[in-house]
Amino acid sequence: MRALVVEDEVGVASFIEGCLREASIAVDVAADGQAGIQLGRENAYDVIVLDLMLPIRDGFSVVRALRAEGVKAPVICLTARDAVDDRVKGLDSGADDYMVKPFSPAELLARIRALVRRTSAIATNPIRVGDLVIDVVARHVERAGRRIDLSAREFALLEYLARNVGHVLTRYMILEKVWDMNQDPLTNVVDVQMTRLRKKIDHGYATPLIHTVRGVGFVLRAD
Ligand code: CA
Repeated sequence: MRALVVEDEVGVASFIEGCLREASIAVDVAADGQAGIQLGRENAYDVIVLDLMLPIRDGFSVVRALRAEGVKAPVICLTARDAVDDRVKGLDSGADDYMVKPFSPAELLARIRALVRRTSAIATNPIRVGDLVIDVVARHVERAGRRIDLSAREFALLEYLARNVGHVLTRYMILEKVWDMNQDPLTNVVDVQMTRLRKKIDHGYATPLIHTVRGVGFVLRAD
């Protein structure tokens, strides 16, 4: 999963960034409305966390601009405790949900998961591919009834493959979705991480599920 956080207060932005990274969500941060619109239109985010009080362009105008450009990513806006009107105005502008500051990491993650589930193309959970079962809510993976422990990054990678089962994903697509924008696109992190994931998912089983498509990328599929 990949999220955009648009928040000008450095402390709040890094708090949210930390919560999301902990939950193995890749995060990009924009510190003003204009930068938020730019990133939101350039990248396919699964969720956008948007503060309403922002410099240059406020949050209302950010969400309106993104919706006008056809960006469908779910938006959670952040409002101050006393600004009830803002919540309504935020939702009217095209946001999907709101949270009142201050909020706990658990609340933020619960809201994000609920929103993503609501809007995700694959609403089914768990996802089954052959004898592999991925519970994306409980973050539990097993194959042929045997539990597989994955690191946060491995899980994010597997989840992305599983949500696109049967579709070939390029290294660039994977890098875009599973890593954030600070990752150097010329590194081989995708291959390194894919090798680790394959060891856990495919080694010791008769049928491999993760396949390399030479010169293109990777696909998860049960033949
Ligand atoms: Ca602010």
